[in-house]
Amino acid sequence: MIKFFNSLSRKKEEFVPHGQLVKMYSCGPTVYSYPHIGNMRAYLFMDNIRRVLKYNGYKLDGVVNITDVGHLTSDADEGEDKMLVASQREHKSPWEIAKFYTDIFMQEVKRLNIDMPEHIVPATSVIDKIINFVQGLLDKGYAYKTSKGVYFDISKFPGYGKLGGGVDQKKAGARIDVDEEKHSPYDFVLWVKAPKEHIMQWDSPWGKGYPGWHIECSVIGNEFLGEYIDIHTGGIDHKTIHHENEIAQSDCLCGHRVVNFWMHVEFLQVDGGKMGKSLNNMYTLDDLKNKGFAPEDFRYFYFMAHYSKQQNFTFEALKGARNSLKAFKMAVKSHKGGQGDVSEKKLEEFRQEFLEAVNDDLNMPKALALCQKALKEEKSEQIFQLMMQFNKVLGFDFEEKVESSIPQEIQELAKQRWQAKQNRDFALADNLRDALAQKGYVVKDSKEGYSLEKL
Ligand code: AMP
Ligand code: ZN
Repeated sequence: MIKFFNSLSRKKEEFVPHGQLVKMYSCGPTVYSYPHIGNMRAYLFMDNIRRVLKYNGYKLDGVVNITDVGHLTSDADEGEDKMLVASQREHKSPWEIAKFYTDIFMQEVKRLNIDMPEHIVPATSVIDKIINFVQGLLDKGYAYKTSKGVYFDISKFPGYGKLGGGVDQKKAGARIDVDEEKHSPYDFVLWVKAPKEHIMQWDSPWGKGYPGWHIECSVIGNEFLGEYIDIHTGGIDHKTIHHENEIAQSDCLCGHRVVNFWMHVEFLQVDGGKMGKSLNNMYTLDDLKNKGFAPEDFRYFYFMAHYSKQQNFTFEALKGARNSLKAFKMAVKSHKGGQGDVSEKKLEEFRQEFLEAVNDDLNMPKALALCQKALKEEKSEQIFQLMMQFNKVLGFDFEEKVESSIPQEIQELAKQRWQAKQNRDFALADNLRDALAQKGYVVKDSKEGYSLEKL
C-alpha cells in the first residue's frame, strides 16, 4: 500500500489511481533565468514520486509545463511579466529567452538523472486551448470581463481556499492591489489585455493579449491528462495562490474535483536562510561543480531529508552527502560477484522494508538506512542485485554514464597513471601523480582500483 500526504486533506492517505495509468502533473519552471538547486529539489521530488510509482508496477502519464509567458514578478497578478524583464536584461526576444532557459532546464534535469514526464508542454503552444478554456468559464458564469482582461470570480466557487490559502478580506490590500473593476481583490486574471508594446500577444475574443499565469496549468492538465488527475506536485510556495487558483479554474469548468492528491515539497534553504540573488547564494549545479561536486552528490543530499521538511543546504552538508554516496557506491560494488550466500528469507525482508519505507510517503532517509543495513551482509552477488533493484528508485549512476564532478582531462591523466602502475613504470606513475596534484587532485589506490579526490 502506498501512502502519500495530501495537502488538501492535510493527512496521509492511501494512494489509489483513478484509472490504469497514473496521471501526474508537475508545475514546471518559469524559463527566465538559470534554474537553481532549490528548483531542482522540486524536480527531484517529482522524480522520487515517479520512480516509486514505477517501482510499485504503475505506468505513468505525466506532464510538466514550461512557463514561457504570463508569470508576473508577483504570483498575485502584479508586476511585470518575468519573460519581458529577462528579455530587456539580456537584450533578446522573449522567444529567445524561453528557448535558451528551456534548453538549460532540460540539461539540468538530465544531469540529475531525473525521470522526466511523458509530456513537456510550453504554455505558448496551447494558447488556442487557453482561449477555449477561458471562454468556457465565461459561458458558465465563473468569469467576467473588465477593461483590463478576463477575471475569475471567486465568489462563484465556495471551495476557494481549500488548500489553506483562505480569503481574508482585511488583508486584501496587503496582498493585492485593489482594482476598482474587480469584484473581489482575490479575483485573479485569466486573460490580460496587452498594451501595444507587449511583445508576446495573441488575438482573442477579448482583444489582443496573453494568458494569466495560473490558467496554463489547468489547461495543459486538462488537455494532456483529462478531467481526473491523480497527483499534482509543486513547491510549497505554489500552494496558497497558484494551486488555489488552479483548483478554482479546473473544478469549475469540469464541474467536479479534478486533482486527487496535491503534493508539495518544502523549500531548500541556504545556510539557514532564503536563497536569493541579492544574497549571492542562488547556487546552480555548475556552482556546485566548480567546488568539486557532481550533480549526483546533490541527488544524495536530496534523499537525506524528508520532502515535507525544509532542508538546509550548506557545502559542509553536501560534502557529507558526497562522502556517503562514495562509500555507498563502493560498498555496493564490493558485493558484485561476491560468493557469499544470503538467504532468500533475508533478501525478502530487505525488499519488504525498502518498499515499506518508500511507500510511506517517500521516507527516503529510512530507505537509505535499510540499504546500509543490507550492505553489511557478507559479500554476495544477491545483495548487489538487490541494490540494483533499489536503485530503480534511487537513480544513482553506477555505470558512471552521467557526468562526474571530475573533468575529463583529469580522469584521462588518472587512467594513464593507473596504466603506468600496472606496467610497473613507477617513475611515469609518480610524474602523473604530481601532475594531478598540481591540478588539485589527489589519487588514492585501493584493491578495487583507484579514486580521485579534489584537494
Ligand atoms: P519557478 O521556476 O520559480 O516557477 O519554480 C519552479 C519550481 O521550483 C516550483 O515548483 C517552485 O515551487 C520550486 N522552487 C522554487 N524555489 C524553491 C526552493 N528554494 N526549494 C524548493 N523548491 C523551490
Ligand atoms: Zn502550475
